[in-house]
Amino acid sequence: MRKEENIWRYGKNNERILTGDRPTGKLHIGHYFGSLMNRVKLQNEYETYIEVADVQALTDNFNNPEKVKNNVKEIVMDQLAVGIDPNKSTIFLQSMIPEIAELTVFYSNLVTIARLQRNPTVKTEIAQKRELFGESVTYGFLGYPVSQAADITAFNATIIPVGEDQLPLIEQCREIVRKFNSIYGEILLEPQAYLGENKRIKGLDGNEKMGKSLGNAIYLSDTEETIKEKVMSAVTDPGRIKKDDPGNPDICMVAYYHNLFSKDEVKTICEECKGGKRGCVACKKQLIKNITEHLAPIREKRHYYEERPEVVKEILMEGTKKASKEAKVTMAKVKEAMKLDYFKEV
Ligand code: ATP
Ligand code: MG
Repeated sequence: MRKEENIWRYGKNNERILTGDRPTGKLHIGHYFGSLMNRVKLQNEYETYIEVADVQALTDNFNNPEKVKNNVKEIVMDQLAVGIDPNKSTIFLQSMIPEIAELTVFYSNLVTIARLQRNPTVKTEIAQKRELFGESVTYGFLGYPVSQAADITAFNATIIPVGEDQLPLIEQCREIVRKFNSIYGEILLEPQAYLGENKRIKGLDGNEKMGKSLGNAIYLSDTEETIKEKVMSAVTDPGRIKKDDPGNPDICMVAYYHNLFSKDEVKTICEECKGGKRGCVACKKQLIKNITEHLAPIREKRHYYEERPEVVKEILMEGTKKASKEAKVTMAKVKEAMKLDYFKEV
């Protein structure tokens, strides 16, 4: 279905946003630059839904439900701390919307196992999770792109602010939508990824992606002491032994993060590094200061919510109620299209 044919009208811009995070840990600066900054900006322009994807988190944490549960409130507090406004954005819990699980079942007929196995993000993640899955991955994990298609379409969302790792998943969702529409009629909308300036933030260890489950992240809630420890142990140019050796900022994680947190100074920092005029310790200290200052207001706002767990709970409950209503509207249309509306006339 083309956007202009959208029969549901949402706010002045007539399109909806759906995005979310897995409660597998607190949110980090990869989320911040990759997705959260866009969410905060876009919530002023579009009706926004933010999912706490606890069901998806269980696909690779099924043996640790406590971890998933405990991280739900952490994720919500992180969102609120960076400026997600509960009056503008609807924050909701995936497991409380059974329509998402139902849609997942319907869509699972529309995607082949081979296609899921070829999904590059799923492939990378399975390789990273060999310890958990051994030689054979679970049906649930292999199928999480299908449940993600259900998340998006349950709310008829078309704008999906994400990091680069999500592109193959959005593509897979688009394929499912096209297949559904071609069989059952033009019901679903094709979503598009909304990538920010920083689509993939690297990890402290030099890994191409900072990830909650990869142990290489600076969290938005980290204290100055923790930031210090992490930056001090970040990967730098291994060829640089002495302070006056010329350094290579292109292979230094400290220089990489200066690009994000020290925009005005980064040019000078890199020139001095290349000329052997700036030692790694001074460079790291400056980064620690800049990250700490940047995150201070976020930590302060987070602290406000940490002291008020009942407010956080209320926001999540209200958001879930609203999301539930919306998902029911989509489900009625989907069931009608799929001839599953048996007792409608009764
Ligand atoms: P996990 O390791 O448990 O998968 P994660 O750190 O990848 O956690 P998710 O909850 O899977 O976080 O991702 C939430 C959103 O943040 C997604 O849109 C994802 O693309 C984005 N994101 C995650 N990590 C990064 C990163 N390093 N750079 C840019 N965007 C990111
Ligand atoms: Mg992830």
